[in-house]
Amino acid sequence: MKITDIKATTVTVPLEAPLRHANGCHWGRFVRTIIEVETDEGIVGLGEMGGGGESAEAVFRGLKSYLVGHDPARLEEMRFLISNPTASLYNNRTQILAALEFACLDILGQKWGVPVSEILGGRLQERVPFASYLFFRYPHPQNGEGEVRTPEQIVAQARLLKEQYGFTSHKLKGGVFRPEYELECYRALASALDGDRFRFDPNGVWSTETAIWFGQQIEGLRNDYLEDPVYGLAGMRRTREKVRMPLATNTVVVNFEQLAANVLDTAVDVILLDTTFWGGIRQCVKAAGVCETFQLGVAVHSSGELGIQLATMLHLGAVIPNLTFAADAHYHHLSDDVIAGGKFKYENGSIVVPSAPGLGVKLDRDKLARYAELYKRLGSYPYDQDPLRPGWTPTIPNNRWADPTDTRIPERILW
Ligand SMILES: [Mg+2]
Repeated sequence: MKITDIKATTVTVPLEAPLRHANGCHWGRFVRTIIEVETDEGIVGLGEMGGGGESAEAVFRGLKSYLVGHDPARLEEMRFLISNPTASLYNNRTQILAALEFACLDILGQKWGVPVSEILGGRLQERVPFASYLFFRYPHPQNGEGEVRTPEQIVAQARLLKEQYGFTSHKLKGGVFRPEYELECYRALASALDGDRFRFDPNGVWSTETAIWFGQQIEGLRNDYLEDPVYGLAGMRRTREKVRMPLATNTVVVNFEQLAANVLDTAVDVILLDTTFWGGIRQCVKAAGVCETFQLGVAVHSSGELGIQLATMLHLGAVIPNLTFAADAHYHHLSDDVIAGGKFKYENGSIVVPSAPGLGVKLDRDKLARYAELYKRLGSYPYDQDPLRPGWTPTIPNNRWADPTDTRIPERILW
């Protein structure tokens, strides 16, 4: 089988409300690039990448000269063809490789009549459990709804998500307000949902001293882990020496060099595997094998997905023997998806791993066209800027916190 064409379409899909984080904000929607890899046997594979627009589409078009005529089964060769580690110093194509790998695995699964999880070693579980992913949110700019800013609103949002989807583990994304205020929010959450489990992630924005202080304050709670309290292995190592709970990362161990460094001088206990950041599902399976060998924990990271990437996370979660934590997903904040049959459904806090050949998802052409049109109308948004804090720079460590008494609505953002 040979690859004959690659198509890239940028879409933007609305969120229920703008999601705030330590580096800025998702301005009420996600922008994603949907990849279609075509073959001479008529099988089409789907991939997905974060961000998009003319530059991302042009990158995929530019790679046609590399890949047309390439056998999609030769995945290891494609890794070096697209993302050779020394060439990557110049072209940084890890996430592009990931989107192409998703599509090639989708092609192979369809060709061989098996789900991608069977290609990856076979599934150990039929469902992948997820954590509720709680964000501080601005109100929806048009209807004023969906705000999450106070401890009461955090608790209400968690209760609602638990009732709707059955989550028993809850992740609070912090790094937006001063740590004392976020501690109050996290404690309120843990107190309201006593018996469930919790994790906190300020996106590496604290000083090491603040990370140690915060970690010590929450030692008595039912923490899965404290995620990226500081940015950098040295700060994580110092924090880990003084805090009695596992530390997790999706930022400072995202490749095999960093994983090796962490094995040799451990700074992080739980590695959050992201199918895009690591360059594909197979790289994550390999990394999970290293973690199994050295008895590090693993979990599945979410970098803001539509259904195609969510399918890669499900197939990954199905085949990892050492997945002992609920996975993360932004998915329940989305109002829609581009896959046929509508959004994946949560049941008892988990999602069934697709069983159809390949990734097990197909495009809804009408929705793809609709959200591609919406992207053309609205364009991209600056992920690392806050719509109501112009001029703010998210330094690391940060001390320029947002004001939790600020009730403004970001009325001028495009929706
Ligand atoms: Mg994180």
